[in-house]
Amino acid sequence: MRFLITGGAGFIGTALANTLVREGHYVRVLDDLSTGDPGQLLPEVSFTRGDVRDVPKLWTLLQGVQGVFHLAARVSVPESILYPREYNDVNVGGTVSVMAAMRDVGVRRVVLASSGTVYGNQPHQPVNEDARPNPLAPYAVSKIAAEHYVFTLGALYNIETVALRIFNAYGPGQLIPPSHPPVVPQFLKQAIGGGSVVVFGDGKQTRDFAYIDDVVRALISAMTSPDVNRQIINVGSGKETSINELVRLIGRVVGRTPQVIYNEAQGGGVSRLVADLRKAASLLGFVPEVELEEGLHLLLTQDPQFHAESTKPRTPTRR
Ligand code: NAD
Repeated sequence: MRFLITGGAGFIGTALANTLVREGHYVRVLDDLSTGDPGQLLPEVSFTRGDVRDVPKLWTLLQGVQGVFHLAARVSVPESILYPREYNDVNVGGTVSVMAAMRDVGVRRVVLASSGTVYGNQPHQPVNEDARPNPLAPYAVSKIAAEHYVFTLGALYNIETVALRIFNAYGPGQLIPPSHPPVVPQFLKQAIGGGSVVVFGDGKQTRDFAYIDDVVRALISAMTSPDVNRQIINVGSGKETSINELVRLIGRVVGRTPQVIYNEAQGGGVSRLVADLRKAASLLGFVPEVELEEGLHLLLTQDPQFHAESTKPRTPTRR
């Protein structure tokens, strides 16, 4: 099949694009490289640099395409608190542009990469898809708005739509930006460097860490499964892990217990979050395969930025 991946030069998009071409599909990627790096895409992936809000460019890239994985977005919760307009413009406006262009060209299905952050603080964990969203930051609001646009416009334009609420994805290929880095590669880098691991809050807050290969399998299932139209589906590990436990596991994987510095909690975070995966299992046949400690080991051994011989971790290229 022929697919377009928006944001396909990013962490999840690159893993998805490379998996799809290895499976024999034809893959186009559109990415503005605001944080992405096309250097990790396999040569078979057809890469175009551009903005996801550029509808004429989307018309061209959607020719002959059966499905769109819509991943292009600004992705940092703390950054979204500083720049809410940019998050609204890209994450909401970009989604509307993708849906309008899909209608114009006549593309069958879109899989939206939504986020577990839409849930915010919830009284019941693991959280299921029927819980009322309780967004705590503009990033989460933008993802709920994107879900609504995808489902509403999909119904109006006769496009099949699926939204995956992805929890904390981690794995090889995840970049470490200088500000607001994702917690897993940042802790690993700090632990390998022999320095302290900096935890925001008391470390008792919990998250659901999903290994990249599991996330990619769920995305592909969402594109190919029947009976998923207009569905919201959680994708995570289904395991609740505190940040303190994450630090302990990273210490085991690197063979050294890191010293921990506790800083004041940042805004926009929740105290507990873990995915109920029953819907993913029944609709997508999705069962996560990689346990956190194994995933951390794979990250350490397979990502060149953590190899002992590599001089410095890769940071995103700003072009
Ligand atoms: P990422 O930042 O690595 O990837 C996003 C990509 O989108 C980047 O390559 C960036 O250059 C591109 N992009 C940003 N603005 C763009 C624009 N205007 N036009 C075109 N491209 C643009 O992040 P990721 O972790 O790979 O996330 C991919 C998707 O999955 C995002 O939609 C994100 O919200 C969602 N998601 C990720 C996680 C996670 O834990 N990584 C969790 C939940 C949801």
